[in-house]
Parts: sequence; C-alpha cells; structure tokens
Amino acid sequence: MIPLLKRLLDIPYPNRCDCCYARIPHDRLLCDACIAALDKERITYSDWAAEQSAQPWENGSVLFSYRDTARNGIISMKEGERGFAQYAGAQLAEVVKTVCEPDAISFVTWVPVTRRRRLSQGYAHAENLGKALAKTLGIPTRRDLLTEQQGALRQHDLPADARSVYAQRFRYSGGALDGKRILLVDDVLTTGSTLRRCTNLLLEAGAESVSIAAACARVLGKKDADHDAER
Ligand SMILES: [Zn+2]
Repeated sequence: MIPLLKRLLDIPYPNRCDCCYARIPHDRLLCDACIAALDKERITYSDWAAEQSAQPWENGSVLFSYRDTARNGIISMKEGERGFAQYAGAQLAEVVKTVCEPDAISFVTWVPVTRRRRLSQGYAHAENLGKALAKTLGIPTRRDLLTEQQGALRQHDLPADARSVYAQRFRYSGGALDGKRILLVDDVLTTGSTLRRCTNLLLEAGAESVSIAAACARVLGKKDADHDAER
C-alpha cells in the first residue's frame, strides 16, 4: 500500500500490533515490547529435531517457541492479520539463508487448508507467512500443489498418535516436480505429521528436495501453550 494512503487510513483504522493489540505507527509491523519479547522466545530447528526421529526433509528453519507473544502472533495470523506474518517471514528468511542457498530454491509453497475453508476465509493459515518469506528471499510461490480434503474433525482435537492418520487428508494435486527444490512453510511445527505427509507427497511427485520452515515450534521442556496448535 502506498505510504500516503496508509497514513490516511490510520485515522479511522489505526495500525495495531498483532501480538498485543497496542496502537503502533503506520509504518511498523509490531510494537517494540513484542519484538523484544519475541527475541526471548527464539529457538532453533535443532531444539525441535533433537526430540524427534529422522525426517524426510533436507533441513528445517524455525523462529520461536510456541508460547506467549509468538502464540498471540500466530492467532492473529490465523485471523488474517499480516503484521506478524510479515515480521516472522522476514526473520525466517534470515534463518533459511543459514541452511539453504536461496538461489537454489525453486519456489515456496505452504500447508493448504480445505477448499471450503479457503473460499470462506480467503487464505490458508501459512499463506501470508509463506508469501512474506518468499518475497524476502526473492523466490516465487506456488499454491496449486497440495490440497486438504474436507473432514469433520480438527487436528487439535486429536491425540498425537492420531495426527498421522489425520495427515492422510492431505493430497497432491499438481503435475510432475522433477528436479524442483521446494521450501514448504507451515505456521506451527508440533509433531511434524502434517509437514511429513506434505513433504512425502512433494518427493513422490519428483521433487529433488524439500526444506521446511515454520514460524513456531513446540518443544518439550519449554513452556508451551496448550491445546490450540492447529498443526
Ligand atoms: Zn505488541
């Protein structure tokens, strides 16, 4: 949006921090207090991977433990707000650059939502994050590869051992991916079952490699929020 229009819109529609809802200047994504709090919630992919078995993806990038300020940001992102998604996308790009050469990534894609959900809310949870990440890295995006089938249950209603069954709802809907190197994005990395399923679908379609990136991860032993991670 052009700066003058943003300034004019700031009068009836003030810009607010996605993590605490404080009013912030029109050119800011989050407030200073939340940016400082997020710095304290930083974790690495290794913190998550150390508690897990081997994964099908080549490497992973994460930013924050899923709690407190970062959790508020994820909730706002799921409601379609863009401030946290843009902030996290730009920060996540810096982490991705430490494990991948951006020029070698063919495109960014993200975990989908059902067709009905996308039509009603207009985006997938991880979509604004994926777009911000791709824009910072200067690489294209694709959202035509993966689909989620409609079902009655939501994943966060399920115990961990049922999540891999739930993940079967994701399907591949694109063409051959021969030789493509893909960066797959989700909002929260929990058990990894969703990203494992989506990674395997992309590899079966011929992708040369899949890297994953998530704004948050749930790490045991760290104080995490309960029960409301979508994936
Ligand atoms: Zn804030």
